[in-house]
Amino acid sequence: MAAISVDTLRKTFGRGAGVVTALDDVSFDVGDGEFFCLLGPSGAGKTTTLKSIAGLVEPDKGAVRIGGQDVADVEPTHRNLAMCFESYALYPQHNVFDNMASPLRSPRLRMPAADVRSRVGRIADMLGIGHLLDRSVTQLSNGQRQRVALGRVLVRPAHAYLLDEPLAHLDAKLRATMRAELKAISTDGLTTTVYVTHDYVEALSLADRIGVLREGRILQVGTPREMWASPANAFVAQAFGKPRINMLAGGLRTSRDHASTSESASSGLGRSAPRDGTHAFVAGGVEIPLRDIDAPPGESVQLAVRPRDLRLHVGAGDPPPGKVRLDGVVYVLEHLGRQTEVTVQIGESLVSVVAPRAAVPTLALDDKVGVLIDPSTTHVFLSGEEGKRVSP
Ligand code: ATP
Repeated sequence: MAAISVDTLRKTFGRGAGVVTALDDVSFDVGDGEFFCLLGPSGAGKTTTLKSIAGLVEPDKGAVRIGGQDVADVEPTHRNLAMCFESYALYPQHNVFDNMASPLRSPRLRMPAADVRSRVGRIADMLGIGHLLDRSVTQLSNGQRQRVALGRVLVRPAHAYLLDEPLAHLDAKLRATMRAELKAISTDGLTTTVYVTHDYVEALSLADRIGVLREGRILQVGTPREMWASPANAFVAQAFGKPRINMLAGGLRTSRDHASTSESASSGLGRSAPRDGTHAFVAGGVEIPLRDIDAPPGESVQLAVRPRDLRLHVGAGDPPPGKVRLDGVVYVLEHLGRQTEVTVQIGESLVSVVAPRAAVPTLALDDKVGVLIDPSTTHVFLSGEEGKRVSP
């Protein structure tokens, strides 16, 4: 077990016009015993980061430290890392047991046969492949093979485990089970793990901390709770949750309630923030009061609100106190078990609302409906795909 430090890694592939910047100053630290997830879309640089830690890719710049030691001159085989890549390779001529046992029998470890049996047996049971130990790996399904490959990594005592989408080939039910198993192993705090995924559910459920990668850059590192509750920018906000967080484009202005204060506060200072920090988000003539926004009135922003934080409101009555109503029409209605997802068209925007089925009024397509926003559940970002967070 060891801490891992990734320090300003840069890696490009190719030359001239075809150059690809895979990593652009990537830095993060993984604590000893920590489970760290790298989350990002395809091509974000996740595998390249993992391979740089493993020593399979040589960065152009920057350093990787394992247990405090710069490993630039340490061969991959001497880094004492156990790795599992998505394109796993098993020995086809061997059965499951021998595939899993092979790292323990290596000249470096030479583990006694009884220890090998007990370690392989324990991990195989945990991965639900204990009954397959005598079977040839050529007679396994893809999902079973993937679990053997993962098992071969987890049996090994190592400074750290590097896992690249290890559950990618499993069906949804098995993924959920395996997630729970991996969580159980990781909560003992005895294994440092860097885990690559593009599945935000995996990251939220497994990680002690998550690093979001995009186009070779780390956009935010934080605990699952931090990533969910205070995403640092619009991209990170949209990386978590399904349906995706709603984004409404609009502008900031001084709240009407505080217009007099702000007018005096901003006189002579152009678009300075009002002194009492009270703003309103404005779109389509509707004003949503906000507090402590770190941006001046006049700024173009996006108001983000998760589908589960919205409510529907039918009829012409006033919205409940503290809530703001946006008017729209029902665009899509989907009953998903006990949940209902309603997509409402509000002006040019489509807004998703998810609520328990029982709480959704009887609606049909094209019905007029109100969407209720509780301002305290909103996040505000500057405009742009990576617009930075300006709400508290
Ligand atoms: P995925 O989820 O699809 O596996 P990723 O986040 O793991 O994606 P990487 O495989 O690290 O992304 O790739 C990052 C970028 O570097 C991509 O644009 C990719 O095409 C490029 N790249 C990676 N390896 C090479 C290589 N050996 N030669 C050229 N380009 C490469």
